[in-house]
Amino acid sequence: MIELAGVSKIYNGIEALKNINLKVERGEILTILGPNGSGKTTLLKILGALEMPTEGFILSNGVRVDEGNAEETRRTTTLVFQRAVLLRGTVRDNVAYGLRIRNLAGPEIEKRVKAALSLVGLEDLADRPSKGLSGGEQQRCSLARALVLECNLLLLDEPTANLDPESMIIIKQVIKRLSERGVTIVLATHDLKQAQELSERILLLDGGEIVESGRPDDLFLGQSSDMARFTRSENFFSGESRVLEGVARINIGGGVEIHGALSRGGPVNIHVRPEDIIVSNERIVSSARNNLLGSIFRIEDHNSIIRIKVDVGVVFTVQITRRSFEEMGLNVGQEVYLTFKASSVMLL
Ligand code: ADP
Ligand code: MG
Repeated sequence: MIELAGVSKIYNGIEALKNINLKVERGEILTILGPNGSGKTTLLKILGALEMPTEGFILSNGVRVDEGNAEETRRTTTLVFQRAVLLRGTVRDNVAYGLRIRNLAGPEIEKRVKAALSLVGLEDLADRPSKGLSGGEQQRCSLARALVLECNLLLLDEPTANLDPESMIIIKQVIKRLSERGVTIVLATHDLKQAQELSERILLLDGGEIVESGRPDDLFLGQSSDMARFTRSENFFSGESRVLEGVARINIGGGVEIHGALSRGGPVNIHVRPEDIIVSNERIVSSARNNLLGSIFRIEDHNSIIRIKVDVGVVFTVQITRRSFEEMGLNVGQEVYLTFKASSVMLL
């Protein structure tokens, strides 16, 4: 339904995308993985015709999209950004807004708003001011604003970065439900587990190019060097597991043993989400079974969130909010402790 042919995008001499050829089918869930700056957001904007390619072209249902007819693609596409952008007013006002400006009839607005709020589990918060919502609730409200418009193409830019588990589950369910209804979904994410569970196809972008594409299991299990490099930077480890008293002790190399709430022994692929790891200056006394000492060797700024690379023998990536980062005063070279629960260790 939407196709990119030989698409490149250059911003002030920076080539954000290079010769992208891509077809996305109706109802498909496609995940875009890739390091910071690899072109994920640019790719989403081009798919939604919010940006025009510098070279190459966009085809929507076989018709070439240009400045003249881009409005049609924009009208049937919704892009949800990583940080929810909400209006003042209540949750209900926010969700109804897009329908009001389209001059829909009152009862129709009411019906659609109700359905969308129920889909994202916000019916009970409909009359709350949007300002008071938690991060996850804001993101769900933002998704509901997109849902009422009944778009054909939903583009999600890192929709679950730093959300509470309940909101993550709801957003995942909504994505599945929409896809069953024939909505095409393209989502950029860092969340490998989510990519694996949700999508039919994954693209790996690096330096503006598609370096890998395929079905999730094929990519994760038969890893190419590009995929391995990316997944290693996202806390994906291969190791040998021994199960003792119901806890798997997994040797992941570099002298590091991880405890996981898994019952599988032998060779395993595991993943720990960067947001599930607590970083601290002192050793924390807690019930969490994993406590590793390492030193920070890179700090990546992603606006509201900060990703920190810590060498503990192998490299772990930890994701924290900017606020925590500033409060802790973290720097490259500093020693820190990483703490996470055995239940945060997931089998891939
Ligand atoms: P990602 O979403 O994977 O982090 P982006 O698509 O945001 O990557 O960016 C890809 C590259 O394009 C980066 O080098 C970024 O700095 C550059 N870029 C993106 N948008 C703009 C813009 N509006 N102006 C200039 N450079 C941009
Ligand atoms: Mg981005």
